[in-house]
Parts: sequence; structure tokens; C-alpha cells
Amino acid sequence: MVEGVLRKYGQFLPVSSSTPMITLGEGDTPLVKSTRLGNELGCDELYFKLEGCNPTGSFKDRGMVVAVAKALEAGSKAIMCASTGNTSASAAAYGGRFNISTIVLVPKGEIASGKLAQAMAYGAKILAVNGSFDHALSLVRTFTNNHPITLVNSVNPNRIEGQKTAGFEIVDSLGDAPDYVFIPVGNAGNITAYTKGFVEYHALGFSSKTPKMMGFQAEGAAPIVLGHPVSNPKTVASAIRIGNPASWESALAARDQSGGVIDTVSDEQILAAYSLLASREGIFCEPASAAAFAGLVKLRQLGLGLANQRVVCIITGTGLKDPDLAARSVQSEIIEIEPDIREVEAALMTPTKHSRREDG
Ligand SMILES: *Cc1c(COP(=O)(O)O)cnc(C)c1O
Repeated sequence: MVEGVLRKYGQFLPVSSSTPMITLGEGDTPLVKSTRLGNELGCDELYFKLEGCNPTGSFKDRGMVVAVAKALEAGSKAIMCASTGNTSASAAAYGGRFNISTIVLVPKGEIASGKLAQAMAYGAKILAVNGSFDHALSLVRTFTNNHPITLVNSVNPNRIEGQKTAGFEIVDSLGDAPDYVFIPVGNAGNITAYTKGFVEYHALGFSSKTPKMMGFQAEGAAPIVLGHPVSNPKTVASAIRIGNPASWESALAARDQSGGVIDTVSDEQILAAYSLLASREGIFCEPASAAAFAGLVKLRQLGLGLANQRVVCIITGTGLKDPDLAARSVQSEIIEIEPDIREVEAALMTPTKHSRREDG
């Protein structure tokens, strides 16, 4: 039986005797050591935290379980969020399972097909806004201010509380905090949550240090790096296509207090990382998740020393949400044949550019 985030880490969460201890099996995700890419980067200890293994395929479930438990405890009539896709999938799943109506506002035409399919299947009421994520969030904030409905975006502190448990898990697995954590930054709730988790665990004596938080925005959606909101954010990585992050201030604090950075990566760098993670590590992630590893590659090329450093890349969500993107962006040769063994022989005897043996 899975414990779930509320039972496993309840003593560090806003849980009271009247909080329903709900779960959909979130948390306890694998922390896997790199087999190839770490060596190539001169990093002895590179790990990937596979948050795509959560029940709806992203880390959002860790925060959602706490936000929904608190909404149920408070007797709320419904939950509501704005979403680039994964928050709506998560809210809709917990809403369906724990019988609370779910309303999601998404930027029209900007949601990966898998994420929209989830929200529909889980039974959410979906409003497609002719505008950006930032417009959608602003509408949701106003609406939930005027109605007895719980806002479950990461401006809800219970979301951050739940998401900080991923930081706890990393320390629990490694026996100490790592030196660096590389993480994509969109609305900046997750970098805020990890920082909170690492700082709290350190204060309790579970780790000897806190990691440097290395956040990465996409070049076309980099308000924190630019120092001003971006009115029309653009990037292939839809989960971080955000022009005015809600947790802007706390992301800056996370950067400064940890001695880290918040920097940018281009879509080209993101897609290169996306394809490397899949073909060299067997990790098929979202482009937004690949931004973290793209950031590591970028800083390594700029001279960041990684020898004797423990580095964790947060793989925030699964690539299965947007299968079309892989088909569009990854170089791969598909050979069509008739169902005839001679054609199999012929196809496999012909040398190809991408011979597996050569790059091994
Ligand atoms: C939500 C999300 C992000 C961005 O997280 P923030 O908390 O908004 O910074 C990154 N990757 C994936 C897969 C996400 O779902």
C-alpha cells in the first residue's frame, strides 16, 4: 500500500485531526543515477528525480493532494485553477476521486493534447480562455475571491507545502542534501517549494547543508531573468510558458539565499536536452522538464565545475503528455517494409547514420 504525501510527511504539513488523509499514490518518486550523461559532463554524481512517475504524470500531484484535502476539510464546494495543462490534469483527478467539482481555465490552443485529454476524462469543467496563462490566472483569482470556491494554483500555500516533500525525499534518499538542484521555472511555485523543503529539513538537522537552486526559464518566457513581465511569452515548453510568475519574489529569494542562479535556455537547447535525456538515459520527459538539464549543459559549457559535486535534475513531468512533439522534433529514421523476412534482413544490413554501436 502506498502511503501518499499526507501520511508519509504529515508531521511537516498543515495537517490537523480533521484533515482527510486522502491519496492517489503521489510522491515517493524514483531518484535515478545517470548512466551516461553525467560522465559526459564530468559529473560523478548526477541524479534525476522522476516526478513524471506521479499519478497524473507531473509533480503537481504532491501539492494538489494537500490543497484538495484542505478544501475538503474546509467544506469547499469546488476547486478551481488556471493551468498550462498539468495543474488542471491534477486538480481534475483529485476532484473526481474525492468528489469535489473542478473548474479549470486553460489558454486556448496552448495545452498539450495529453493534458487536455486528462482534464476531460477526469470530468473537469473546462473553460478555454482566448488569452494567456497569466490572463487565466487573473480571472481565477478574481472569481475565487467572490465565490466559496478554493483556488488550487500554487498561490495556494497548501500547494507549496505538498510540493516541498520532493525536497525531503531527495535528502532521505541521498542521506544529505545535494550540492546543486537544477529545476525549470514557470510560475515559480516549485523552486519555492523545493527551497522550503530543503531549508526546513536542514533546520531540523536532517542535512548538513542546503543545495544551490539553479532555476531555468525559456528564453522567450523569462520574466524573472529580464526583470519585467513578458506579455506574450513564447516557448516550445508549454508548462513554463508564463510571463508573470505568481511566486516571483520567492524565486528570487530561493536563488539568493541558496547561492544559485535563475538563467535562460533557448528552445533549441531545451529540445536537444529533451532528446538526449530520452536516447541516452531512457527518460522521456516534457520539454519544460528538459529545461533543467539544458541549464546544466549550458552552465557546464560556461565552465561550472562539477567534479565531486552531487547534482539533481528535477524531471518535472512525463513526455507522454505531448507525443506529437517528439515526432516533430527528434531526428529518427523509420524504415517501412513488407511483412517479409528478406526485407527485415535488407533493412538491418544497410548501415545507418545513427548506428547504436558507434555512439556506445
Ligand atoms: C508546472 C510545471 C512546471 C513549472 O513549475 P512552476 O511551479 O510553475 O515553476 C515545470 N514543468 C512541468 C512539467 C510542470 O507541470
